[in-house]
Amino acid sequence: MFGKVLIANRGEIALRVLRACRELGVRTVAVHSEADTEAKYVKLADESVCIGPAPSSQSYLNIPAIISAAEVTDAEAIHPGYGFLSENADFAERVEKSGFAFIGPRPETIRLMGDKVSAKNAMREAGVPCVPGSDGALPEDPKEIIKIGRAVGYPVIIKAAGGGGGRGMRVVHTEAALLNAVNMTRAEAGAAFNNPTVYMEKFLENPRHVEIQVLSDAHRNSIYLGERDCSMQRRHQKVIEEAPAPDINRRMIGRVGDRCAEACRRINYRGAGTFEFLYENGEFYFIEMNTRVQVEHPVTELITGVDIVQAQIRVAAGEKLWLKQREIEIRGHAIECRINAEDPFKFTPSPGKITNWHPPGGPGIRVDSHAYSGYTVPPHYDSMIGKVIAYGDTREQAIKRMRIALSEMMVDGIKTNIPLHQELMLDERFIKGGTSIHYLEEKLAAKSDASKGK
Ligand code: ADP
Repeated sequence: MFGKVLIANRGEIALRVLRACRELGVRTVAVHSEADTEAKYVKLADESVCIGPAPSSQSYLNIPAIISAAEVTDAEAIHPGYGFLSENADFAERVEKSGFAFIGPRPETIRLMGDKVSAKNAMREAGVPCVPGSDGALPEDPKEIIKIGRAVGYPVIIKAAGGGGGRGMRVVHTEAALLNAVNMTRAEAGAAFNNPTVYMEKFLENPRHVEIQVLSDAHRNSIYLGERDCSMQRRHQKVIEEAPAPDINRRMIGRVGDRCAEACRRINYRGAGTFEFLYENGEFYFIEMNTRVQVEHPVTELITGVDIVQAQIRVAAGEKLWLKQREIEIRGHAIECRINAEDPFKFTPSPGKITNWHPPGGPGIRVDSHAYSGYTVPPHYDSMIGKVIAYGDTREQAIKRMRIALSEMMVDGIKTNIPLHQELMLDERFIKGGTSIHYLEEKLAAKSDASKGK
């Protein structure tokens, strides 16, 4: 096991990694920007290093500053968390070349899966079901593009090979709009991701977002830890996640999960990862792989009892997988609400000082957050300030516990999306389970129409 791990992230995930390290008896180095100097989790770490000013381009994305922080503190490994540099293959490579262990997959795996075109090709070869579409990148020739559009069938979605975070996508309903959409997506992708490659997929009209969590060691042993349903989204951003996914046949999950574990063995995957699928009419369609820990990992931890962050660290240290697939048992149901510092219905960010922070508790409630009374949410980063996770023997019990938890929770001084979550926990369609990825946006649009008296 490592003696010391540097945590190259901030906020709740930095605290989550810190807790995992402490339980493993590993010392920690927290790196932070000038905006996070006073954060309590920074003080919980054994050592801390300021890596630059508030803007993330100068701190949390500053590769030389992070590597030198690891050097001066004699850290042996670097955990990238999620976001920031977590899926940056160049960073992983620099970490390894500088003599540290990267707590994540090999750089070449990150590169392969970071390009959605090569990722889809690799998955098709491994027998993972994919969304029908162009076989690889779209060609330059407009005639060829029109031909592909006809073969796939409208509506289609044009997606950037290097896209992420819900950006770099455009839905096209008619052939007349196709070429313009391809050109615009190409231009945007070139500017935003430095890669103008785009590809085409059939646009699924009413899918759910269901993903498979995998865990692999460095010795080609791989398992999957069940699935999560993350269909409750706004602007392609997840709002609520749960595990298991309501009303999906376990045998079907088993088949897809086995394919994912097999794909991991084929690409020599190392660490934790997620295969994201759209699920429609009883079929799974692979869209992308995330080669890092995800925000929503706690729901899987609660239903499997596996500590995913500790597992990441142990396999990065070379440990052989200590779990067999048949030992993974799914028990109960877990739901996670992402708590954001934002207006609950207008969604404008609401940074500032939290004058009073009272997190909920009691049976089946877990709160992962770095916030506290007196903490100032900086305006520079993502608005997520924590997660409330409810576990129950059944989905009904988890929902009930979540309702109680949200009603107990107090956050004063800033606005949060807790009122939105409270509304969703009483929403008939959510309670029934299995809503599509469009449900939340449709509900919000209907509400805004109603308030405008339409
Ligand atoms: P990102 O890396 O930006 O998150 P994804 O490929 O994971 O991009 O897609 C993000 C979201 O976009 C999905 O969760 C889904 O809501 C929507 N989406 C992507 N591809 C399709 C598709 N073929 N049909 C319908 N919706 C899609």
